[in-house]
Amino acid sequence: MLRAENICFAYRRGTPILRDVSLELAPGRVLGLIAPSGHGKSTLARILAGWERPDSGAVTLDGGPLGAHRPCRVQYLNQNPELAVNPRWRMERILTECWPVDERTRRALGIEPGWLGRFPGELSGGELQRFCIARALHPRLRHLVADEMTTMLDPITQALIWSRLVGLIRERGIGLLVITHNPALAGRLCDDIIRLERINHLDPDESRP
Ligand code: ADP
Repeated sequence: MLRAENICFAYRRGTPILRDVSLELAPGRVLGLIAPSGHGKSTLARILAGWERPDSGAVTLDGGPLGAHRPCRVQYLNQNPELAVNPRWRMERILTECWPVDERTRRALGIEPGWLGRFPGELSGGELQRFCIARALHPRLRHLVADEMTTMLDPITQALIWSRLVGLIRERGIGLLVITHNPALAGRLCDDIIRLERINHLDPDESRP
């Protein structure tokens, strides 16, 4: 279980961004977090993944601190895969940077063998995002925080990536947090949805059928 408890956070200028935010992400579940832009979704995502420290409150994994194994166990993906890869490396090297991504994962995400010899700049955004997802799916991964992960992609590529990813995470018992400003996307994908209100009240989404 990935748990955020009473998270408070302000950037250096001092305006509070998150106040007393708590949530739980269970293994094998898909949780949606929706809010308009500027409400602190990415800030919370980075805190959940251990990239940013809260001013108060805590993030725990199975009751303990995220700790030294965090990079394998909790991964963060966002809408800019091109910023997450070395532009001078070929895709084969990028793909195996964290773990020797197996054939099955590659196939499930529709990564074509012909892409492996290319550089990141020679792939589309959707193609590149598949590499970043595959790289994140380390065998020890427990939770994936997907922050507007497909916002920049066309609807067909979005649908394909999500259906493949949700299949993989259900099979492997990985918790998936889908962070989006798009309620329709969250409605299609998620077991549960919460809304992050501005400063900052988490509500269950009561508009769900
Ligand atoms: P969302 O993901 O919901 O769009 P963000 O977490 O990106 O929201 O941003 C929440 C607020 O924090 C915004 O007002 C944004 O301008 C501000 N913010 C984001 N990153 C920083 C930063 N590094 N320094 C200062 N303010 C920031």
